[in-house]
Amino acid sequence: MATVVAVCNNKGGVGKTNVSCNLPAFLTLYQKTVLLVDFDHQANATYSLGFNSKLVPLSIYHALVGQISPIALVRTTALFGFDLLPSSQDLAGAEIELVGLQNREIKLAEILESFRPRYDYIFIDCPPSLGLLTVNALVAADEVLIPVQAEYLALEGLSQLLSTIELARRNLGKDLRDLRALLTMHDRRSRICREVETNLRNNFPGYVFQTTIPRASVLAEAPKFGRTILHHAPESKATKAYRQLAEEFLKLHENSEKV
Ligand code: ATP
Ligand code: MG
Repeated sequence: MATVVAVCNNKGGVGKTNVSCNLPAFLTLYQKTVLLVDFDHQANATYSLGFNSKLVPLSIYHALVGQISPIALVRTTALFGFDLLPSSQDLAGAEIELVGLQNREIKLAEILESFRPRYDYIFIDCPPSLGLLTVNALVAADEVLIPVQAEYLALEGLSQLLSTIELARRNLGKDLRDLRALLTMHDRRSRICREVETNLRNNFPGYVFQTTIPRASVLAEAPKFGRTILHHAPESKATKAYRQLAEEFLKLHENSEKV
C-alpha cells in the first residue's frame, strides 16, 4: 500500500515541483513504484516531464469535478520509470467548483484510494496556496514534505502552513504521521543560507532532512528539456544530492515500518 506524501509550502517558488519531479526518479532506482500527482493548475510538473496540454487534454481536474475515471488519466513515463497524473489550467476553477460539493475536502483522498494498492509512494505536487486544493492534498496525505528555500523570510510562511496542517489534523480527523522540511536552493557559501539552516534545525529538531538540495543551474534547466536531473546531468552535484535524499527518505520509511 502506498504512502502518500504531499509536497507542500504555501510560499511560491521554493522548489516543490523540482522535488516532486526529481525525488521519484531516484526512488525508482531502488525499485520503488511511484505516482506523481500534479495538483497545481500551473501544471509545472506536467510540463517539466515533457507533457503539454495537447498531449494530455484531460487532467486531474476532470477526475476531481467530473466523472472521468482517474486511472484512465495516468501517464506512464517510460524514460523516468514513474507515473504521472497530469494537471491542466482547468484546475484553477476547481477551488470554486468544489465549494458547493459535499465532502469537498476528501475528493482527492477518494481518488487516490484506488491507486494506493498499485504504488509504493504517491507524491502530490501542491499549489502555492492554502486553499481547498491544498486542504484536499493534506487530507489525502500520510505525510508532508515541506521544501524550504534557504533565504530571508523562509520561516515566516512556515507557521501558516503548520497551522493549516494542525487544522486538517484536528477538524478532519487526519493523522499526518510525519512532517519533514527539506532545504532547497542551498548555497553553503551564503551567510543567509547558513543562518536559515541553523534556525530551521534549531526550531524543528528531528524534522529536517539532513540532505540539502543545492542551488544548481542544471536543476533549473532540466525541465526545459522535459527531463529529471538524473537524465539531464547524471554526474552533477545536484544528482548526488537527490540520490542522497532518496536514500535518507527510504531509510526513514524503513525505520517507521519497523515501529
Ligand atoms: P510554485 O510555488 O510556483 O509551484 P515551486 O515551489 O514548485 O513553485 P519550483 O517551480 O520547483 O518551485 O522552483 C522555482 C524555480 O526555481 C524554477 O524556475 C526552478 O527551475 C528553480 N529551481 C528549483 N529548485 C532549484 C535548485 N535547487 N537550484 C536552482 N534552481 C532551482
Ligand atoms: Mg510548483
